[in-house]
Amino acid sequence: MKVYLDPGHGEGVTGKPDPGAVGPTGLTENTVTFDLAKRLGHLLRAKGYQVLGATLAAARDDENLNEAIASANTQGADLFISLHCNASASPKARGVETWHGGSTSAQVVAEAILQRIGEQLAGGKGAWVQGRRYPLVNRGAKKSRFAVLTNTRMPAVLVELAFISNSQEEAWLKERTVRQQFAQAIAGAIDDVYRKKGA
Ligand SMILES: [Zn+2]
Repeated sequence: MKVYLDPGHGEGVTGKPDPGAVGPTGLTENTVTFDLAKRLGHLLRAKGYQVLGATLAAARDDENLNEAIASANTQGADLFISLHCNASASPKARGVETWHGGSTSAQVVAEAILQRIGEQLAGGKGAWVQGRRYPLVNRGAKKSRFAVLTNTRMPAVLVELAFISNSQEEAWLKERTVRQQFAQAIAGAIDDVYRKKGA
């Protein structure tokens, strides 16, 4: 079982740095997505999955997003996970959402990730991080025609972890504990779906 991890944004192999969205105090999206991909990669490997993509430290921009998609396709990845932070002109926008291309298998993973994040960070079992409840809002698993979801030959899910543009959520995204909880939730969700399939 091969999982391709695509941390959103990066240095840009074509020489154009692409930090992604930037929070009110300067946290960049690609700082979060690269750290999360590293954590998620460790957890997935420990569960016996083969991890592709993130291990290459492939700093990317939109041009080599196509390379990531092609690479996942040629390497025969079984699942593609793209990691991003949300951003909005409204500083109040908040919450977690996942996107899938419409296939049942991708939708199942997109929903499992939200379920696990809810349990891990937002009020279900294991709801407490550093003694505090994280009132993360579930914005749902949604269908989209993003290239990353439709040009990939395997089920693909894009996770918008939280709003980096919201000062409270930016503060959470800075915390290593919170990033680890996100990584555990996503790894757990993948395992929930694929362990049952005997992958
Ligand atoms: Zn992004």
